[in-house]
Parts: sequence; C-alpha cells; structure tokens
Amino acid sequence: MRETIRTTCPYCGVGCGVSVEDPGGAARVSGDANHPANFGRLCVKGAALAQVLTHEERLLHPQVDGARAGWDEALDRVAENFRKTIVDHGPGSVALYVSGQLLTEDYYVANKLMKGFVGSANIDTNSRLCMSSSVAGHKRAFGADTVPGVYEDLEEAQLVVLVGSNLAWCHPILYQRLVAAREKRGGWPRIVNIDPRRTATSEIADLQLSLAPGSDVALFNGLLRELQKAGKRDKKFVAAHTQGATEALGVARKWTPEKVAAQTGLPLAELHQFYDLFIQYDKTVTVYSQGVNQSSAGTDKVNAIVNCHLLTARIGKPGCGPFSVTGQNNAMGGREVGGLANMLAAHLELGNPAHRALVRKFWNAPHMAEKPGFKAVELFQAIDDGRVKAVWIVATNPVDSMPDADFVRGALKKCPFVVVSDVAAHSDTGALAQVLLPAQAWGEKDGTVTNSERRISRQRGFRESPGEARADWRAICDVAKRLGFSEGFAFDGPAAIFREHAALSGLENYGARDFDISAFAKISDAEYLALASFQWPCPAGVAIDEKPKRFFADGKFFTDSGRGQFVATDFRGTAGRTDAQNPFLLNTGRVRDQWRTTMGAGGAQNLSQHIAEPYAELNPLDAARLGIEPAGLARVWNERGAVILRAQITERQRRGGVFAPIHWSEQFASKARVGALIAPHVDPVSGQPESKATPVCVEAVHPAFYAFVLARKKPENLDCDYWALARIEGGWRIDLAGLKALPDADVFARKIFGLDAAPECDLVAMRDDKAGTFRCVVTRKDEMLGAIFIAPGPVDAARAWLCEQFARSEADPKALLAGRPPLATRDPGRKICVCLNVGAYTILDAIALKKLTSVDSVGAATGAGTGCGSCKPEIESLLKNPAPVSNQC
Ligand code: SF4
Repeated sequence: MRETIRTTCPYCGVGCGVSVEDPGGAARVSGDANHPANFGRLCVKGAALAQVLTHEERLLHPQVDGARAGWDEALDRVAENFRKTIVDHGPGSVALYVSGQLLTEDYYVANKLMKGFVGSANIDTNSRLCMSSSVAGHKRAFGADTVPGVYEDLEEAQLVVLVGSNLAWCHPILYQRLVAAREKRGGWPRIVNIDPRRTATSEIADLQLSLAPGSDVALFNGLLRELQKAGKRDKKFVAAHTQGATEALGVARKWTPEKVAAQTGLPLAELHQFYDLFIQYDKTVTVYSQGVNQSSAGTDKVNAIVNCHLLTARIGKPGCGPFSVTGQNNAMGGREVGGLANMLAAHLELGNPAHRALVRKFWNAPHMAEKPGFKAVELFQAIDDGRVKAVWIVATNPVDSMPDADFVRGALKKCPFVVVSDVAAHSDTGALAQVLLPAQAWGEKDGTVTNSERRISRQRGFRESPGEARADWRAICDVAKRLGFSEGFAFDGPAAIFREHAALSGLENYGARDFDISAFAKISDAEYLALASFQWPCPAGVAIDEKPKRFFADGKFFTDSGRGQFVATDFRGTAGRTDAQNPFLLNTGRVRDQWRTTMGAGGAQNLSQHIAEPYAELNPLDAARLGIEPAGLARVWNERGAVILRAQITERQRRGGVFAPIHWSEQFASKARVGALIAPHVDPVSGQPESKATPVCVEAVHPAFYAFVLARKKPENLDCDYWALARIEGGWRIDLAGLKALPDADVFARKIFGLDAAPECDLVAMRDDKAGTFRCVVTRKDEMLGAIFIAPGPVDAARAWLCEQFARSEADPKALLAGRPPLATRDPGRKICVCLNVGAYTILDAIALKKLTSVDSVGAATGAGTGCGSCKPEIESLLKNPAPVSNQC
C-alpha cells in the first residue's frame, strides 16, 4: 500500500492541506480532502508542487567566501562574526531578516535568539511588506492582532466586499469556495470588488469599484457616515462594547457621497450602489489584503474598514466581520511568535514591562530586548549607514522584494557580514553573502504553519534533504549554542520547539490574550507527528473541538478597557504623487501562477506557461499616446531605477496607471526588478511600505530587433538589452530584444547556442533580408537543440505551438522554421488552463464554433477549467470578451 503524507501547501495564506503519495519516488500531489481550508481542492500552484521537488538549482552545501565549506566551518564563521560585532558595537549592530515562508518553529527560535539572548529586537520579516498594516490596525481596534473570522463566513455572508484583494489569483482556493457558495446559494453572497484595476476577481463581482489608488479611507469614511445616517448603528453593541465612535463619526461626517466621489473618482451612482448594499445586508464580510496593507495609510485603511463593522456589530458572528487574508503561508505563524521587530512572542507586547518580565523568566533569558528593533525599511537603512554590521537573511530575497531595491543591494554590498540561508543556489541576495547556508525546501521541512483563519497545520517532510541542506531551526540553534546559549536552544526537533511555544502562549494568560495554544504544551513527539490541523485559541483544560472559532461575538476585546476601539481615520493621499516628470502611478502585485521572486515556483515548468514574461499593463489610450504597441516593450522608470517590460494593453487598467508583477528577479529577466522603482515611503504606524502607488514615467522602447528562442540548455550569457527566460518542458523559452541592429544574425544565434564550442551541431537557417527576419534551428544528429526567430518587430510566432513541438522528440526541426503550425493545425495560444493544457485560442475557437455561453460548457467542450479551476475567471473573461488574446506573455 502506498503511504500518504498529509502536509500543507507552502505558498499563500489560504493554507491548503496537501496529500502526497509515494514519497521518495515520483510524488503524486493532491488536495487533502479532509483539510478544512480546502476540502481536497488545490489551485494551479499547489497542484504543481511535485514539479518543485527537484534538486536542480538547489544550494546543496554551505559556502564561505564563495567556496564550499563544511557546516561547522560556516556556523563557526557566523557565530564568530556575530559575537565579535556584538562585543565591539553592541547587540543593536546585528540583525536577522526572516520570512513568512519559515515554519513557526524556525521563526520561534530566531525570535528567541534575538530578543531574549542577543538582547536586540532587530529581527524583522518580509511579512512587514505584506500585512503589518493589518497587524497594526487589529491592535489599535481590538487590542491584539486578532483575525476575528473564519473562512465559512465568506460562504455564509449575504455580502462579501473585497478590498485591494485579487482573490482569484492570490488566494485561489478561498475564491473557489466563494464561487462554489454562490453557485449553491443561487448568487449569494453578493460581491463587491474594490480595486483600481479590473482583475480576474472582477469577473464574479456584482459591482466593481475601480477607485483612484489610495482613496480607500475616503470611501470607508463615507460608508461609516451613510451607515450612521441610515440607522444601522447597533446602539446596544456600540454603547456596551466599544469606544471612540463619536470621534470616528466626527471625522467621517464630512465625507459626503459627493466628496467621496470626487476623491475616489467613482461615479455617484456606483458609490450609492455600494453603500446601499452594505446598508441592506447585515451579514457582511469585508476581505482585504495587500491593496489595503501596502500603503502609506495602510493602518488607517484597515481601521476605516473595521470602524464600519464595529458600528454595525458585524463582527465575530457567522457571515460577518473584517477579514485580513495573508499573502504568505506562515505570515500568521510569524505574528504568533513575535517575528516582527515591534512584537514579543505569543502576542505579548515588547513595550509592556510585565510582558517582558514574563518572557524573560520563561526563557531564562540573559539579555532581554527592551525596545523595538528596526522594521524592514529602517533595517536596510541601518545596514547602509553602518549601524547594523552583520545580518542573517533567512528564506527571503530582499534585493528584489524590498522597496528601493537597488539601495538595498548597495547596503548589503557595504555590509561587513552577510549570511543568507536559502534553498536556491543562485539568488540576487545570495550573490552578496559571505556565508551561504543550504536550507530545506518544501517536502523536506518539518513543522507547523498558520493560515489566515488562525488554523495551525503540520507541514511534514517526506523527502531526504539533498546534499547537506538542513532545517533553519537547527542552523539557528547551532549558532545560538556557539554564542554560549546552549541551554535555551537544546531542542532535539521541531516538536520540542512547538511544546515550548505552546507553553509560552498559555503562561499567565487566563483568557487575557487572544493567542493561546497551551492545550498542546505537553504534546508528545508522536502526537506532534500525527497532529491534525486546529484553529486557535486552544487553551489548556478546554476540550478541543472542530467548531469554527470566532472572536468578539461576546463584545469582549483585548484593549485595556475591554472595548473595541473606533479609530478616527482622516484621509490622506498616497505618499507618492504624480507630476509632470512621473505622470503614472505604478501598482504592483502577483500573477496567478508565480510566487514571490520566482525562487519557489520559478522552477516549475507548468507555472511558466500561463505568463512567461514580466509585463506592464497599460490602458489603450495611454499606450496609444506613448506610441507603445501591443507586445512591444515599455520602459517604466523613475529617479530610483528602471525596468523594461512587455506591454500588455488592456481596458482593465485605469488611465494614468500601470501594473507590473513583482516576481521577476535577475535570475529570470534582465530588467524587471520592480522593487527598484518603489520609494521607501512607509505607513507611520505599521512601517509597511507603499508598494501600490509609485510615481513613474512610462515610455516606448524601440528595439532594433526582437527574438524568440527555444533552447535545451539555459543559455550562459544573454548579452542583450532585454531578455526574459522561462522553463518549459524539455528546456527553456527566452524572449530577447536589442537596441542596436544585429550586424550578423547568424553569429548572434551561434553565440546564444554556444555553437563555436560545439562544431558537431548543425544550424539550418532561413533569412528574409527584405523583411529583416532570420530563423534557424540547431540540431545535433537528429536531436533538436534549439530554435531562434529574429524580427525587426515583436516576433510573430505561435509560441505555445512552438513550445509543444520543442518538447516532442519526434518533431521535425525544419517544420519549426515556419514559426507556426501547418494550415490544418491551430496554435493553441497562451495556456489558460495549465492542468488540462488548454490554450486561449482553443477556448476562443470552441466558444465561437459551438456558441458556448458558460464556463461549464467550455469545460465540457475543451476540458479547460475542469482541473484545479484556477483558470475559470479567465474563461469567464474570454466568454465576455472574445477578442484575440496577445500570444506574447
Ligand atoms: Fe497553495 Fe494557496 Fe493555492 Fe491553496 S490556494 S493550493 S495554499 S497557493
């Protein structure tokens, strides 16, 4: 019988359960039917997890100063440098920068080492960039970082308001649960989607509000006013369980619908439609994520939303509540252990002397941090100006993901000592490290993660780690021991760390703090091994049940007064303002099938098929004015940096805005690190950077040539003004462009394929001097090694068909020279459904020929959408707008 491992997806904050069969062989990954987050579903990223179980491109051994080293040598070097820096410059001169990708156990020991033993709170996390405004907003309103609701609330609501949340692409399984609920309940809940850009999520919205970037506070202040005016204030709840309503309403009063319309740019009719829906339906959930959080007014945005729920007492009850959904799979676990520089462990407060004393005693900590450390943006500024002289970066890639990313790179170059723990052999951050430590990847790691609804699940290792890769918790404990802290870090495995974490959560708690999992403080190793997922709180002595756990229905909050706190949120605009120099606002975000800076999912060939290139989404009127043609290249730049991206011209984008995805590092594209453009403007309360509204200039790029390449091997040297590469079955696809005309296309092709060193290879070329095109295929004996298509404009080739042919060993190399299929065969087009391998043209043809009108009928005709279902919003979009789809990206 085949063994089944129950584990958890490592990507987004939905936290889906995953079943893996046949560990050690060709792993088969499927959704865990018994996991309450996903009930067996997986999105396209989760479904492709087997493809990331590769050792290719893995960091397999420690490295010191660029040379392979043993673990002892590497850890000695880390400990010695940290020790010397602390002795010479104090505990504030060292730092850890960690990640929402860490398991809770890794996070716990990292936080314990810094805050209790080194004596500095200089540990921050990339979750600062993701959801720290929600943390700050929760703490202001609830007195604790509490997510009140559960996923079922979205299914039980009458109205779901999505704010700055492209749920369809960023939290696909939660989106699918919402869609399934609507199908089951005959169109309920109603959905309002609030986002400057029309996204895949807009396809299910009953109302789309494409508001001006950064104007959310005005919108929700106006809503608070209208709720009060309509008599929707729950007088009993507000009087008995809240405070600050008068002040909040005082500020909101001036936000008349006319004023809100002027600020948000929304038509009055749409505004009233939204307000009427919110007034009408008592069971309302407001879901928000990065569009709210990643703002210089992010915390106010969160509180403006929460105010509306406090006023109407729509909180903590089935189908009600403000609901922050997290970007990374363990952002919540990091919050629980105090992974942010201004938090202590177990939702205890760093600024509270009694809490510090409690933790000091519990840890027997020799050097307890007394004040907050540097938040992410401050941390890299402190590295730059020399206040921090040694930094250990774990499971994150700040050279790409931080705002002002070139500044961050410069700061790390200057830093006397940089350690990077990672799974990837090559990353833009790892390139700057003196010490590289090989970490375990998904499939090897063992510990727990917490999803957006406070559900703790086990991530179980089922594969041996390749080379010398080790658990992060172990590397951190080994350094702690070398620093003389053996007693506090004598853990023999993740179960021991989890027990301590659980015990701390219950310490002198008595219901005073939200986070309490002390029921597991004495869990045995065997019980930890078998631990089923559970939602917190789970205090000791209370029977653990499966019922959804909500907070605040009883009107008891964690503020000093025990009341929910309204926050008066006056509107202020985005920190960055457009002007004549930078007339566009850059919005950034994720795409459906990629993850972070392609370090995790970049190796999965399936996940490159949907969108293979970094792109800039532009409104057609803006593109026409700038002379940017479809599939041409656009330069997006400001005084901080520049990127070159493929133009995607679409009505979804508001005029004056440009959207670019965050995923492409220098490992996958020449100039697509959009973080380099983003100013380090932060929210004054949370310290979260404003990544959704950066003033930029956009202009057309006029390459002298474009090229499209298929290659078995990743080319070593892509010496071109623009390149973007993506893994495909059997090799790589690369898009190229150059500003200077090629003196000799043949020589260029030979260089790309390294043919001078491979005389046994044949090159069959086709040149049209009049059209300025050049095509060739490279073969060795009968094997096809590569193909290149060069043209003076965007290469007009059937990319999806070419990639399919390239994957087939029996394909006729010469047939590829045509660049498109023979007449009887149709190019399938860009992959929409990756699971069933269905392209956009196949879907459009089926819609036209068979007169299809629904996603289900497209599924029946083509198979598209019948796998994981992540592509259903795009099928819906093709049904509504059957226009030709750009084949480029
Ligand atoms: Fe993984 Fe998120 Fe997809 Fe679930 S929705 S399978 S957690 S990426």
